[in-house]
Amino acid sequence: MLSIEEALDKIRSGIAPLPTEEIFVSDALGRVLAEDIIATVSHPPQAVSAMDGYAVRAGDVVEVPAKLKQIGEAAAGHKFEGEVGPGECARIFTGGALPSGADSIVIQEDTDASGDTITIKEAPKLGEWVRPEGLDFAAGKVLLSAGRIMTARDVGLAAAAGATWIRVRRRPRIAILSTGDEIVMPGAPMRPDQIVSSNSVALVAYAQTLGAEGTSIGIAEDRPESLRERLKDATGFDILVTSGGASVGDHDLVQSVFGDEGLELGFYKIAMRPGKPLIFGNIGHTYLLGLPGNPVSTGVTSAIFLKAAVESMLGIAPGPLYQAARLGRDLGPNGKRLDFMRARLEPSDSDLPTATPFDRQDSSMMAAFAGADCLVMREIGAPAAKAGDIVKVVPLEFSILKF
Ligand code: AMP
Ligand code: MG
Repeated sequence: MLSIEEALDKIRSGIAPLPTEEIFVSDALGRVLAEDIIATVSHPPQAVSAMDGYAVRAGDVVEVPAKLKQIGEAAAGHKFEGEVGPGECARIFTGGALPSGADSIVIQEDTDASGDTITIKEAPKLGEWVRPEGLDFAAGKVLLSAGRIMTARDVGLAAAAGATWIRVRRRPRIAILSTGDEIVMPGAPMRPDQIVSSNSVALVAYAQTLGAEGTSIGIAEDRPESLRERLKDATGFDILVTSGGASVGDHDLVQSVFGDEGLELGFYKIAMRPGKPLIFGNIGHTYLLGLPGNPVSTGVTSAIFLKAAVESMLGIAPGPLYQAARLGRDLGPNGKRLDFMRARLEPSDSDLPTATPFDRQDSSMMAAFAGADCLVMREIGAPAAKAGDIVKVVPLEFSILKF
């Protein structure tokens, strides 16, 4: 059996980044830049006022109070085309372009107006309340580099920088195929010996969370012909994720049937719990990730291996798999597989947050999985551990989206 590091290495080294595509900047949230975003305009594009007040020549108002003649007005979007000469000023509002001749702003609270005679009561520093051209960034500057995952703030920045159509990595297209005679699609009529194919919908959501597009291509029955038939619908997808049928039970057909259909096997079986039976390979241009069917096993293996596959396709450098926490309760020794225990993660007064594994860890327990914040990772053969010991935790926070 492979270790998870070996399995992750195989996935990462086996999968190259996808081609790129152009999208409009307004659709860029969560997309991975394939090219740098370089400002085509400066921000602000010309000197503007940061306040409501009067645009003056600082040299005119060294001694205050001083009286100036107002000769015009510069509201945002309405530049005053005149020139502010000695003894003159212009009314100005936040965002209004600084008129030529003026060099500083006196805020309106420090003035008195009587007709077009303005009394300046406070002497401004040279350049006060003026945002010079390019204060934020100048045209030509590289603002966001290729490989960056666009945050909501980046989207605004790119638009301000003049970006319109931007080149990003195409989203991985993931086909999701559930297997099993006992499962039916959500909403379909059900016998008592059947269950809802929750994996069909959860996997679509996992794919989306990771920055990919997930499409359910239905359910294959536990018959070779049924699997073979469904496989045709995976054509053109970047990854086919199957759930169920991955182990060696009589009805577990994924490996044998796809083997006949040209599967080039990368690996099978990983020394982890949940998730031991796991198939990675490719059928032509489509990668295959064969996950176990128990919903928690499907979820945990998606969080680790589907994530790695999607990251490779998007050209994202992988972050650390785990962080440190302190155990919230005693644990017995661990066996021969790396164990991923569903756990609560809470802030604590100590140096690290506290991770408390749930009592029951059955891989069918979806309510506990949904209620978990992290997975406590226990090494192969780890001895019993005490509350307060440092452990590794995999946080279940993977969204590609950031504010
Ligand atoms: P398998 O990996 O096919 O042996 O399935 C293991 C367990 O997961 C069985 O109890 C299945 O009923 C369940 N299971 C398999 N596929 C799904 C699915 N798509 N949604 C929910 N549970 C599933
Ligand atoms: Mg099955």
